Amino acid sequence: MKFVLASNNIKKLGEMRAILSDMGMEVISQSEAGVNVEVEETGESFEENALLKAETVMRAANMPAIADDSGLSVDALGGRPGVYSARFGGDGCKSDHERCEYLLRLMENEVLRKAAFVSVIVCAFPDGRRISARGECRGEILREFRGAGGFGYDPLFFVPEYGQTMAEMDAGLKNSISHRARALRELKIKLEKSDLK
Ligand code: IMP
Repeated sequence: MKFVLASNNIKKLGEMRAILSDMGMEVISQSEAGVNVEVEETGESFEENALLKAETVMRAANMPAIADDSGLSVDALGGRPGVYSARFGGDGCKSDHERCEYLLRLMENEVLRKAAFVSVIVCAFPDGRRISARGECRGEILREFRGAGGFGYDPLFFVPEYGQTMAEMDAGLKNSISHRARALRELKIKLEKSDLK
């Protein structure tokens, strides 16, 4: 079965594509499916936003769609920025780098640095069926930037088991341990169990 990936974020799309093709799943981008929609993320949870994106793109493309909603959840900030990760700091922060700097300022006097990346994936089918999966990757927020790979908060997100930030990891390692990889692996298992693969 072929799926359309419901995302316009080039970096995220690249990662999802790499993980899914390693799993032997056939995926195409929104532009390859001839769909040009930008879904407004009005939900208050990762689940709501992922469902919104998957359903909108599934309807527009009239084929099964996979969407991810993801973000950073910082323990000392009560789970923020969470679903607002891409918009953290509001209009004052226009790039990933500025959002990271904003996070560093907020965490300046914070001793507790634990955090998690979270990804919720929803697969929506034209016949009304929905399958979802969640993945988390725990780590710590550093006090300075390290590494040039990845995107978003990767240069500040240190994974103790590997002694590297996500921006220092090679893409293959990030794509095998990330929140997104974990959610997509769980999704694949659920798809296989449901005979919808
Ligand atoms: P959305 O899922 O498009 O709403 O955006 C998720 C946001 O969370 C991104 O813009 C990043 O700021 C952050 N994020 C999600 N996944 C990652 C990741 O793998 N590395 C770094 N930041 C991420």
